[in-house]
Amino acid sequence: MAWFLNFYKCDRCKRRWTDEWSCMCDDECPHCGRRDMTPYNSEELTTLIEQEGNEFIVLWSPETAEHDPDYRELGRFPTREKALEFLSADG
Ligand SMILES: [Zn+2]
Repeated sequence: MAWFLNFYKCDRCKRRWTDEWSCMCDDECPHCGRRDMTPYNSEELTTLIEQEGNEFIVLWSPETAEHDPDYRELGRFPTREKALEFLSADG
């Protein structure tokens, strides 16, 4: 299962928020409580790069992840460029 960062905008109070889910699912507005808001945009977070000290860690969310991304570390790189290279080589 992929992991998504969903972007929402509330119909009622017009405020925006983001939330991470295992699908593009509806969410409740954290500001006014309006329910069933559908994301207007979504970014896939199945792989991501995180900086930790001087290293860049490539993380991957396996198909089995459901309630949280359950990220696995694929590798550590000295620069973000190297990490991106690794990801594009993988795809
Ligand atoms: Zn709202």
